[in-house]
Amino acid sequence: MRRTRIVATIGPASDSDEMIKALVVAGVDVFRLSFAHGDIPSGIERLRRIRALAPDLALMVDIPGPKIRAGTFGSTPVALNVGDEIELVEAFGETSTARRIAVERHDVLALLRVGDKIHLGDGGVSLDVIQSGKIARAKVSSGGSVLGKPGLSLPSSILNDRLPTDDDRARLEALRSESFEILAVSFVRSAFDMVSTRTVLSRDDVMLMAKIETSEGVENLDEIIAVSDAIMVARGDLGVRMPIEEVPHLQKDIVRHGVRYARPVVVATQMLESMTHAQVPTRAEVTDVANAVLDGASAVMLSGETAIGDDPVGTVITMDRIVRRAEASFDYAKWGASLGVQQIESSGGKSTRITAAVTGAAWRAAMEEQAVAIVACTRSGMTARAISRFRPPMPIVAITPSESTARQLRSSWGVQEIYLSPATDIDELCEFAVTQMKLSGIAKSGDPVVVMAGSASGGAAITDTVRMVVVP
Ligand code: PEP
Repeated sequence: MRRTRIVATIGPASDSDEMIKALVVAGVDVFRLSFAHGDIPSGIERLRRIRALAPDLALMVDIPGPKIRAGTFGSTPVALNVGDEIELVEAFGETSTARRIAVERHDVLALLRVGDKIHLGDGGVSLDVIQSGKIARAKVSSGGSVLGKPGLSLPSSILNDRLPTDDDRARLEALRSESFEILAVSFVRSAFDMVSTRTVLSRDDVMLMAKIETSEGVENLDEIIAVSDAIMVARGDLGVRMPIEEVPHLQKDIVRHGVRYARPVVVATQMLESMTHAQVPTRAEVTDVANAVLDGASAVMLSGETAIGDDPVGTVITMDRIVRRAEASFDYAKWGASLGVQQIESSGGKSTRITAAVTGAAWRAAMEEQAVAIVACTRSGMTARAISRFRPPMPIVAITPSESTARQLRSSWGVQEIYLSPATDIDELCEFAVTQMKLSGIAKSGDPVVVMAGSASGGAAITDTVRMVVVP
């Protein structure tokens, strides 16, 4: 079993029913649906259709925040050459060309100043503003080709909206009664952004994922993680808003933070970029995916590769192969030992400390006894996430009464088998776990299995019990 998760972004190349089914078979764990493109009703319709096609996967809805998109350049790359002059106009639902870019946002062009830099897409193409106003003009300073609806990165001084933006609010309201597991929040700059977004969404069955892609997001990482359920290293915008040479180091740092806080961390963007049009990735991309696995990422993400690429399924299969190979070289024992008894850092108090201590004890017992599996009985998913950060070599099995927790756990590293069970008593849970593991071939008679659960006296949110069960 692969343990690092694969997130695939859905777009025109992948949103047919056949393609969704094929992507599930190829190994996608989480589908990301961007709510930056198109109108809200068609986004909701697509979400419902994909939910029906992928009932066991996690669905991630990505809201754009203040991100501005250009009107589409179409599906064939359009070259923007150094020195070309381009007009920028405020226009919605219109196409962009090499001479005129439609900017889908009110009232920003007049705020530009001569000399400002604008980046297109994930930073490859940049323009220098030479005239501001309702119709602005810019000169290409770094050329390249663009397609689809690339993001337009304007100076942060222009994008100082608080989250959620008015547009995000409309999306959150429409999403309030929909079935999805993760909300990815773009351009998070402070804990307040996450707290405000959660208040507007008003749901506690959805994980909030903070996309770290601004310098303020990096600066305030600790306070942001403390109030988030998961983190994304959004390398596209991060590499535009921070010096590009910082990206690999920020990636490692953000991953380590995620592990300390027991939050899933997704490493995203340009992982297999060349496969958008090529059949094989570059050697550098293969190395990048493998390194993300070795850094300890919970998941690796495909963006344009599956959204607008020529072969979304082939790309997922390639990523799956790279990840499996990297996992074969992962030093599981060293990783777990390096965590030691490190506590889960969070704003949560005693219950989180107890969960940290108990999962640490479970990891040590499982390693010493060479258990065949670690079972996490979990209502919210926290226990499974807390043991997952130790990256144990044996399968992590989650047992939960909640379907939405089961689907959310598709974003956590290594939570291999997930069972729904109505059992609440710890003896019943152990029996259920052992039976299921025998049926699935993970355990046979005589094998040791470590089980973690909350005792009746422990309260719902506390995992206070570790048991070593020898399979009868
Ligand atoms: C990114 O910038 O890396 C990212 C993941 O955001 P988006 O794809 O929404 O632009």
